[in-house]
Amino acid sequence: MTKNLVGLCLGVLCFVLSACGSSPDPKNGPAPAGKADATAATPTGGANTSGVSTFVPGGKIPPPSVILGRQQVPILCYHQIRDWKPTDSKMAKDYIMPIADFRAQLKMLHDSGYHTILPDQLYAYLTKGAALPSKPVMLTFDDNDEDQYTIAFPEMKKYGYKGVFFIMTITLGKLPHYMSKEQVKELYDAGNVIGSHTWDHHNVKKYQGKDWEIQIDKPTKQLEAITGTPIRYFAYPFGLWNAQAFPELRKRGFIAAFGLADKRDQNDPLMCIRRIIVGGGWGLKTFSNAMHQSFK
Ligand SMILES: [Zn+2]
Repeated sequence: MTKNLVGLCLGVLCFVLSACGSSPDPKNGPAPAGKADATAATPTGGANTSGVSTFVPGGKIPPPSVILGRQQVPILCYHQIRDWKPTDSKMAKDYIMPIADFRAQLKMLHDSGYHTILPDQLYAYLTKGAALPSKPVMLTFDDNDEDQYTIAFPEMKKYGYKGVFFIMTITLGKLPHYMSKEQVKELYDAGNVIGSHTWDHHNVKKYQGKDWEIQIDKPTKQLEAITGTPIRYFAYPFGLWNAQAFPELRKRGFIAAFGLADKRDQNDPLMCIRRIIVGGGWGLKTFSNAMHQSFK
């Protein structure tokens, strides 16, 4: 199997499994049981040297009730941004955003007065009540698909928007479907945030022994080498998490982690911040309704 085929298959596998693990429709699922040590982290270090964010994470994390009591910021999750092909399955289309639709969504956000924020700003808001711009929204992109660089990035630049790119490092350089290290670096240099999305998209809930090293430690080091900055934010493959993963991620320097639309853990909401997948084929009204209803 060629490298490209490997990459393509991984992408397809990701979409198939994503569809099994979560739906693009906003939904609430059960919160896993378990207690996480929310006071253990006293993070330090910045996530971005581009001048976009000057916030340095640190200090004591407030009680979960304080974080849970703050109004949620809409966080949107995208995967591929390209036009549908006849060979795309109905399920795959949920995770493929046609280019014109993506452009229309960003234009609507801009015309409606939305401002993109980055994870450091969200972290400061959640932990310290720091002010956010009016109508905040966060744009996130999973899996390292190359069209995030070729299509989404220039479109975001039109509006001065920044986003978060969660990289599945096994795909790095697997052209033509995935971004290269240089492209990831360029996104970072332009003020976007680079986060970790594991090595090959294995479910965090199943990690044992060396899995933490393979899926988290090595990819983090690689992303830190590419960007020259600490990697502080993580997105769970398939949006799947459990409370046992929280201290493991914190030990490795992550200060917040992102899931999908499931209900947050009541003891450690920073480690399961909610996002919704914007479904391919959503009209602007559905898009707008989902943003408002899912983050009440
Ligand atoms: Zn993914």
